[in-house]
Amino acid sequence: MADATPTPKPGDFAAGRPVVFRNATVITVDKAGVIPNGDVLVTGDTITAVGPKLKVPEGTLEIDAGGGILTPGFVDTHRHMWQTALRGYGGDWALSQYFVFYYLQHGEVFRPEDIYAGNLLSALESVDTGVTTTLDWSHALRTPEYADAAVKAFEEIPGRFVLGYGNYLGAPWEWTADKDFQSWVKNFKTNDMLSLEIAFDVPDSEDFPEKAAFQYARDNGLRVTTHAGVWGATTDVGLGHMFDAGMMDDKVTYVHAASLSPDSYHKIAASGGTVSVSTESEQSAGQGYPSTWEIRKYGIPASLSMDTSVWWSADFFSAMRATLSSDRSRAHLEAHKTDDTVAVNQLRAEDVLWMATQGGANALGMGDKIGSIAVGKKADLLLIKNDQSPAMTPILNPNAHVVYQANTADVHTVVVNGRVLKYDGKRIGLDIGPARDAVAASVEYVRGKLGEQTWEEGMHPPLEPNEEIENPYKYAD
Ligand SMILES: [Zn+2]
Repeated sequence: MADATPTPKPGDFAAGRPVVFRNATVITVDKAGVIPNGDVLVTGDTITAVGPKLKVPEGTLEIDAGGGILTPGFVDTHRHMWQTALRGYGGDWALSQYFVFYYLQHGEVFRPEDIYAGNLLSALESVDTGVTTTLDWSHALRTPEYADAAVKAFEEIPGRFVLGYGNYLGAPWEWTADKDFQSWVKNFKTNDMLSLEIAFDVPDSEDFPEKAAFQYARDNGLRVTTHAGVWGATTDVGLGHMFDAGMMDDKVTYVHAASLSPDSYHKIAASGGTVSVSTESEQSAGQGYPSTWEIRKYGIPASLSMDTSVWWSADFFSAMRATLSSDRSRAHLEAHKTDDTVAVNQLRAEDVLWMATQGGANALGMGDKIGSIAVGKKADLLLIKNDQSPAMTPILNPNAHVVYQANTADVHTVVVNGRVLKYDGKRIGLDIGPARDAVAASVEYVRGKLGEQTWEEGMHPPLEPNEEIENPYKYAD
């Protein structure tokens, strides 16, 4: 044992040497709670010690985390990463405009390389902003060739990813029965950094043909993620079918789960399911009110997700902030209905940070490997530290600070599977050039294929005039 090397340079991390974070406010999201002036030692891909003033092996690189907050890396349980190729394009959409664009317009033209481009940029954005694990809700894999393109991006960016294999242009009971798809799944090799789920929705129907897709997933040991509780699209009806057929279990994630009945929430709770809440999405697209305020009454665990950056942000600080605010906003509105006031906020900053980390890990079936800072867990870590930022001092209430004060510009260091990908606010060896070029080429292609008029109309849905309200008051000099 010896003193660690002072102030590493970015190039030092490539050697795979042990790394210790010194003097951080460590939010463990574990039994140890918050450790002031704590150290965390990473050896290989694993967290090997947590506590104050750790003795470390000779040659350990030392990161001065004083004045910073060390948290587990964030886990996003639902992101349509391929849509990042058209970042921000649909910022003023309503849900119907999203459907028209992706089903009728973009859906006619996009290629495997467009999937690759979006995934590459999105994957880079994830690791850059502290999202160390992302479930790619990849619902545009019309053939396995498209799936190969999605995976290629993950092989180039060293984050942790789960491919949620989906195909919104086909019926799930058909594409999961397809020989080419099934042999692609057989050949898929799960490893520490990349695993597989099946992603499809259950719209209202009488005969529940999706049962075959659930059965396929179950037979192959794959988890299922489904947009459930989307107003007017996937409702209590589909969820009832799932329940009656015995297809609800603890390997299903319900995305949004807004606008469902108490009966459906009871079914999710009783079967051990989890909900992926995408607050920025629900607030703009109208799936229903962001569901944390409802599902917490039923004891259903939540994770957080961004959904799509074709519309809103992929910023996990924003996800936490929006979720805590929307939950409290609803609590106030409900109280006002009975002329009451909220005396105590039920949902705490600590709860949404749990959703952003351990809750996400649990929803992906990876809760024993990632999601908290504890000895034996994989080293997925985020140091939030910015010595020059007025918003980063003082740090009095660490959980609340992460949720309401910090932002992506404060992401100092990101570690995934023991590898330092970002240090002192700069990514190490992960240039944006290839992703930016691939996306630029994709945008040029898609825009050319759609034609200028469709492109412009898609981005700027026409406004409908507001209903005029008669004002009884008149202003006169
Ligand atoms: Zn979605």
